Amino acid sequence: MAPKGLIAGNWKMNGLRASVAEIEDLKARMAATPVACDVLVCPPATLICSFVKAAQGSAISIGGQDCHAALNGAHTGDISAQMLADLGCSHVIVGHSERRADHGESDADVQAKAAAALSQGLVAIICVGETEAERDDGRTIDVVTSQIRGSFPDGATADNTVIAYEPVWAIGTGRTPTPADVAETHAAIRAELVALMGEQGNRTRILYGGSVKPSNASELLTVANVNGALVGGASLKAEDFWGIISACQ
Ligand code: PEP
Repeated sequence: MAPKGLIAGNWKMNGLRASVAEIEDLKARMAATPVACDVLVCPPATLICSFVKAAQGSAISIGGQDCHAALNGAHTGDISAQMLADLGCSHVIVGHSERRADHGESDADVQAKAAAALSQGLVAIICVGETEAERDDGRTIDVVTSQIRGSFPDGATADNTVIAYEPVWAIGTGRTPTPADVAETHAAIRAELVALMGEQGNRTRILYGGSVKPSNASELLTVANVNGALVGGASLKAEDFWGIISACQ
């Protein structure tokens, strides 16, 4: 049986205190209409507390966008997995391509962050994806499977680990791979997970991310081995995010 879908919103460096209204709006929509998938919102660290509070009594989970590999210490500006768990987060995104590119994070860094997340009872959403040049060279599957092997923490299970496949060239650009391309890459990711985890690999969620919006969500979410979506821009407004959540069957 396919794993239950997960629609996760990555707010990136967006949102101010007034943005809690979007969570209240989403909560009202979810109270009025049952949804078939799990729903997660990952706001910037500044909004985690207020979003956790606003989401209370709903099925909306709140997560972080990154964590340090250490649980505490002299790391100015960083946030640890322990701190996220303490605030009421259930998940944390690690290895987003913007972190890999802007902060030079390697697979080993991502693996250490994912391990820290698991040690604190958080679900690690490990992001992988090829650049446009890698895709043009026909290296998508090599790049993605190698990132998974390099970023995969010890102790990963179907319950504590999610893979998000996000082609770098599709993030925030309005461009998406064809459903056939998504199917091919997700099948390769599934095979890699089974090689790494045995039977649990069949139950581990694989999300697609990159320019998902209400108008293309149904097409992308019904591709084989797509178990949900990681959504950037279209997660910022409850109405758009709801359009994607509703498309997840
Ligand atoms: C993302 O950055 O995780 C993402 C998928 O962004 P967007 O949906 O805006 O392409």
